[in-house]
Amino acid sequence: MTQIKKIGLFTSGGDAPGMNAAIRAVVRTAKYYNIEVVGIRRGYEGMINGELFPMDGKSVANIIQRGGTILKTARSEQFKTAEGRRLAYDQLVKHGIQGLVAIGGDGTFTGARIFGSEYDMPIVGLPGTIDNDLYGTDFTIGYDTAINTVIDAVDKIRDTAESHDRLFIVEVMGRDSGLIALRTGIASGAEAIIIPETKRDINALMDRLENGRKDKSSKIVMVAEGEDPGGAFEIGRQVKEKFPNYDTRVSILGHIQRGGKPSCMDRVLASRVGVAAVEALRDGHRNEMIGIVHNEIAFTPFEHACKHHVEINANFLKIVEILSI
Ligand code: ATP
Repeated sequence: MTQIKKIGLFTSGGDAPGMNAAIRAVVRTAKYYNIEVVGIRRGYEGMINGELFPMDGKSVANIIQRGGTILKTARSEQFKTAEGRRLAYDQLVKHGIQGLVAIGGDGTFTGARIFGSEYDMPIVGLPGTIDNDLYGTDFTIGYDTAINTVIDAVDKIRDTAESHDRLFIVEVMGRDSGLIALRTGIASGAEAIIIPETKRDINALMDRLENGRKDKSSKIVMVAEGEDPGGAFEIGRQVKEKFPNYDTRVSILGHIQRGGKPSCMDRVLASRVGVAAVEALRDGHRNEMIGIVHNEIAFTPFEHACKHHVEINANFLKIVEILSI
């Protein structure tokens, strides 16, 4: 096994708070092991276009507390083509890169898996997505910050809901996964949670509103956006139609969920997996996502990490039902 001397680093897909902490950890760990780091801007798109530049310990100073990603991120249709991936590989070879660290979500790792099967380029991935929808890590970088942003916002909504005796339908992010809605629903005392995994069951919600406690002055219903961002408006319309005596409002939290200072949990998670990523490349790992399971570093092949089979803990739904009585 040849010792890796130069690695490339990029962020890809949706941004997530804590990505900068992960970038910092990778760059500083590489420096510790005398490995050069080449930053790649705008994910796979920048790789194809040759947006590569050298990074050193100083280039990641004062970023651990910043949201977003200093490397920028993008979605790349070109990388989904064989020709796009060939152009990307040519750029890596031109810059003498012998391994890659990818920070992103399931799309990023699907791309990495395909690329790694076509070219001899070791790649390891760090789970960077607010959705927490990757198998092989208890939490993803950005999830903790995002759920804390959501509960801050819902606490504020609750104040106005309480003052006006209103029912608020709050839509949070989560295209394929209701994990943001599930935890924040519990933490903000929601009446009901509607998530893609249990199919959006509007009848169950109506039943709950019909038969639940009538004496509560405010009610919160948490909805994961699912396939259909803005779908909370339709739910709101149906609720208004069936319960005209409820003062029903809809609030879509949107992109505030992606921004802001990463929480302590996210910074520590990013730092731990960032260090492990460089050590993994040195040790010859490839095609694996590095996560933390039961507080220990865990390696999961990309194909398993992206399987979309992160299961919803049924107890969580039961907890909502019991506690909203
Ligand atoms: P998030 O979960 O936050 O949305 P993500 O990594 O899943 O992040 P995607 O937009 O799904 O974000 O994927 C990021 C990029 O990965 C895509 O823009 C594309 O360049 C690459 N990618 C995704 N799927 C494939 C594929 N099947 N083949 C090659 N590349 C892919």
